Amino acid sequence: MAYVIIAVCFGLAGGIVGKLKGSSFFLWFLISGAVPFIGLMAAFLYRFEREELRRACPECGRVTKIYDAVCTRCGAELEFPERAIAPESWERTPRAPVA
Ligand SMILES: [Zn+2]
Repeated sequence: MAYVIIAVCFGLAGGIVGKLKGSSFFLWFLISGAVPFIGLMAAFLYRFEREELRRACPECGRVTKIYDAVCTRCGAELEFPERAIAPESWERTPRAPVA
């Protein structure tokens, strides 16, 4: 019985984290409730991953996470960039696309 209470608590926590991220509360509730610790961690990591700064590879132009040391497409070693690209979560388009 105690496990059910713990699962629901983790489910709520994971669901709230997912909801704050603009994802589905119900989806993360289910994930966090099914695998309490792992699900909640996944919800947090999902959040941080999308808020991580990015940068473009100087060799091939692929956009990678700022902490990547090697380009995942061309294998070039990456210095810490002078200019970073805004995280995915910052990319909001306030204007509707022109029809
Ligand atoms: Zn590259």
